[in-house]
Amino acid sequence: MKIKIGGLLYDVIAVTDLHTTDGEGRKVDLNGRITYGTQQIEVARQITYERQLVTLLHECAHGILEHAGQDAPENSLVAMGYGLFALIRENPELIEAVKRGRIEAASDEHD
Ligand SMILES: [Zn+2]
Repeated sequence: MKIKIGGLLYDVIAVTDLHTTDGEGRKVDLNGRITYGTQQIEVARQITYERQLVTLLHECAHGILEHAGQDAPENSLVAMGYGLFALIRENPELIEAVKRGRIEAASDEHD
């Protein structure tokens, strides 16, 4: 999958054994990681499909902020991952309206 964030195209890949190393050289497992230089979003393969999507949206939120020269506390971005997942999944009419560019569908017009 590819995702465009702020006009840049990111490759999304599922990775086995996604981790980083802490300050003392210990391996720390990650659910996801966005790398701006290579325009790549990695998502851990071993987590559930739903958690992969939450993680992907979380990494997209990181990317949106990065492209705007902003940053936010990690816990705010965790909230955005879950919040966006629920918003998108539970509101298909909202997604259609955003794609359409207006709230009302043509068949809903009253004028
Ligand atoms: Zn994060």
